[in-house]
Amino acid sequence: MNSAARRLSAITPSPTLAISAKAKNLQAAGIEVLNLSAGEPDFDTPEHIRAAAVAALARGETHYTATDGTAELKSAILSKLKRENGLEYALDEIIASSGAKQSLFNLCLALLNPGDEVLIPAPHWVSYPAMAHIAQAKPCIIDCPQRQGFKLDSGSLEAAITPKTRLLILNSPNNPSGACYTAEELAALGEVLRRHEKILIASDDIYEHLLYTNDTFVNIAMVVPELKPRCIIINGVSKAYAMTGWRLGYAAGPAWLIGAMKKIQSHSTSNPSSLSQAGALAALNGTQDCVAEMRTVFSRRRDHFISGLDRIKGLSCPPPAGAFYAFVDCSTAIAARDLENDVAFATWLLEDLRIAAVPGSAFGTANHIRFSYACAEPTLDATLERLGRALGRR
Ligand code: PMP
Ligand code: GLU
Repeated sequence: MNSAARRLSAITPSPTLAISAKAKNLQAAGIEVLNLSAGEPDFDTPEHIRAAAVAALARGETHYTATDGTAELKSAILSKLKRENGLEYALDEIIASSGAKQSLFNLCLALLNPGDEVLIPAPHWVSYPAMAHIAQAKPCIIDCPQRQGFKLDSGSLEAAITPKTRLLILNSPNNPSGACYTAEELAALGEVLRRHEKILIASDDIYEHLLYTNDTFVNIAMVVPELKPRCIIINGVSKAYAMTGWRLGYAAGPAWLIGAMKKIQSHSTSNPSSLSQAGALAALNGTQDCVAEMRTVFSRRRDHFISGLDRIKGLSCPPPAGAFYAFVDCSTAIAARDLENDVAFATWLLEDLRIAAVPGSAFGTANHIRFSYACAEPTLDATLERLGRALGRR
């Protein structure tokens, strides 16, 4: 009687959100926890964006909007994709959703049939396999180890493709590894994908603006224009503009697929919040200085945190190119403390050191731990201090 639908049997609640909630509960109970689990900027949303939402509220923009977003917001998304990515779309090729997460979820439900295979390079964001499962498709995880820079190469891609493959999900810069694909690497993947016409490619660009190397951001539709009709670009304002709670993301892709995603959205959330749309409009059309300012701070924290980790025994982390995570190989530390695995390591971190971080196995890559450095510098310093004391320094 009390059993949930079978499609949920392979799914656990989002581990990133669960660990973050656990840390917040401990904090609420008066226990001091260093919370490096949540993948969200600690900055407040920039003032001009907040003011735009307040003004929209004052104007009475409190009604349902078009399912796929207001005409103004869709035009702003279209301009963004042209201005920053050189990608041209029509208005019926754009949908705004309640977060990039909802756009991805719509995509999986709109595209996948039971038994279809979804290729997911690991390490991967926690929600991709869950979304494939909910759509009754089969997530096929492709291991991309650290020696490969945590990136998919053309050989592994080719080997993973079967007649059932329907979707490949690329995420660059990557959550959790920070790895970012170069144009050459994407071109090599494109070479394989050109030959497999049934496969669509989701490019999750949510960390586009959080890149700390001299490379410029590119996605596969930019590098291999021939594939653009098979690409769905996923992006949003959560990470670039510190707007995680606003829940506003978007997708751009072929009209037939965006139309199908819109159908699903019309029967689930109707439309993204009208006030969030007003904020996102200001974010996309307004000054981009705030994005650069936040990136500068993240970049400084990254340098500081990664060099600090480098001095701690048993941990190893190559400098990540983008996003705001350190994805640390902790296999030596796990062995030194006689722990079973990375999940036990994360439990030890939380219970003994009061540091909240996410085990690598949640992202499909065991023996690692993910720290978010999108938090205040004293929190990063205290984390390094506690880790150094517990694990030793080199
Ligand atoms: N993709 C990746 C890789 C992410 O890390 C996240 C994290 N939230 C999302 C998508 C979803 O973002 P949003 O807040 O726009 O739903
Ligand atoms: N994407 C963030 C993370 O990986 C936020 C939580 C979530 O949606 O998974 O921590």
